[in-house]
Amino acid sequence: MTVTIKDDRQEILSYLEDASNFKGGDAERLYIPDSEEELMSAVSECAGRGTFVTVSGGGTGTVGGRVPREGAIISLEKFNRILDIEKEKKKAVLQAGVVIKDFLNAIEPYGLFYPPFPTERTAFIGGNAATNASGEYSFRFGPTRRYVKRIRMVLTTGKVLDISRGSLSEKNGIIDYGLFQIDLPSYRTPCIKCSAGYFAQEGMDGIDLLIGSEGTLGIITEVEVSLIDALPPRAITILFFREEEKVPDIVRVMKKSFRELYSLEFFDAGSLQFLKKDFPEIPEGACAVYVETAADAEHMEKLAEIAERYDSADALVGEDKKNYEKLIDFRHRLPENINAYFKKIGLVKVAMDIAVPEDKFPEMYRFYKDTMKREKGMHTILFGHIGENHLHFNLFPADEKQKVHAVEIYETCVGKALSLGGTVAAEHGIGKIKHKWLKIMYGEKGLKEMARIKKAFDPYCILGPDNIFPKELMSM
Ligand SMILES: Cc1cc2nc3c(=O)[nH]c(=O)nc-3n(C[C@H](O)[C@H](O)[C@H](O)COP(=O)(O)OP(=O)(O)OC[C@H]3O[C@@H](n4cnc5c(N)ncnc54)[C@H](O)[C@@H]3O)c2cc1C
Repeated sequence: MTVTIKDDRQEILSYLEDASNFKGGDAERLYIPDSEEELMSAVSECAGRGTFVTVSGGGTGTVGGRVPREGAIISLEKFNRILDIEKEKKKAVLQAGVVIKDFLNAIEPYGLFYPPFPTERTAFIGGNAATNASGEYSFRFGPTRRYVKRIRMVLTTGKVLDISRGSLSEKNGIIDYGLFQIDLPSYRTPCIKCSAGYFAQEGMDGIDLLIGSEGTLGIITEVEVSLIDALPPRAITILFFREEEKVPDIVRVMKKSFRELYSLEFFDAGSLQFLKKDFPEIPEGACAVYVETAADAEHMEKLAEIAERYDSADALVGEDKKNYEKLIDFRHRLPENINAYFKKIGLVKVAMDIAVPEDKFPEMYRFYKDTMKREKGMHTILFGHIGENHLHFNLFPADEKQKVHAVEIYETCVGKALSLGGTVAAEHGIGKIKHKWLKIMYGEKGLKEMARIKKAFDPYCILGPDNIFPKELMSM
């Protein structure tokens, strides 16, 4: 067997981008291995030449992680086999290139469900593990990290790590991977939804360092995940409100009111403009709270009560399959339409991925709203996973001057979030475009500690250059 290699730039072009619209992608060679053996031969060729390697999954990332600046790309697209599904044990073993949508379809006949998938279902399971992805069901069921039981990872040294959860953990500040040991960094990952840099907690499981490592420690080839029983019938309700300042209160009441609450999302009036052409029934000037609950009379009645109490302007309800699917589409289209818009106008959007602890959320929300009021000259929107105190604040700078100002606004939001115990990256990772914020979060010392960890896994320092921290840190 020989690995598929493409050197023709035209054939490589589509691998030089992801959903971030990050510019400056370049590579001289693309490897598409079909087996671990082929993957290892590609890795050893690159290591021998000292060629940088960027790992490519489904390409849906939003931080430029799979976009190479130079060197080679290794795509996992042919690692697309579901190796095992065990109904009784509620687990599955997947190759890293399995597309999430295909996996969800494959487990459905078994009456099983995999909850932490991201909104974009063309992502690969390997990409999800590499970014610790979350999605609309993470509010109730948690992020990818919670479901990963085992990871198989090829290192640039040609060695393979196959780590099961529970098999090795931090002791006395050291995690011993057998092949090498690493020191627990001095920073701690906050106990909220977080995908900012390498995970670090006292007593942490060694597998948790690999999850969210954004293609910098090794190449994930196989992932074993735990599954849950298929969810009971659910309904989606989108309640429209005219008074955005009441939203944190509405969300707090909803969290208390529903026995079976699966998903809780928010779209401000500005973000709903991106959905107007697909959903003309959206009331003008309103924001929306998107709720997925059990589809029974008790939940529907409570929703009606909340709608009345907070003077809802209108509602869309998806109880039957057709309308349910329509409202799933409502949720999915928003980031898609935003990304398509930015791609069309050729701008890298200034998009935040900040989360804060639950009790601090109303303060963070007010901070966003005050900022938006003050910055009327720039188009801004706010939407996302409000149930997890995690909103995406997006800024639309119209020119270079506004772009500079947008970054200043970003910095003030980061400062506010960190002062509240939050994170600069809740689900998308750091990639190549958020180094600055990670440095503010963990300091130069934290970044250097991450670089030291990387060196233990990847002594040639060729893997995922510029992901998480600048590659220059590797030479220090
Ligand atoms: C419309 C839209 C909606 C989105 N919604 C969400 C959301 O709700 N929640 C969320 O978390 N994310 C969301 N995302 C972001 C994205 O879907 C996730 O980050 C996803 O996990 C990326 O997976 P991928 O396979 O596309 O990875 P890629 O984009 O190909 O790569 C992402 C990173 O992982 C690394 N990587 C990929 N595969 C491997 C591997 N096998 N081994 C080692 N490293 C690897 C890459 O080098 C890169 O650094 C959304 C994106 C879009 C476009």
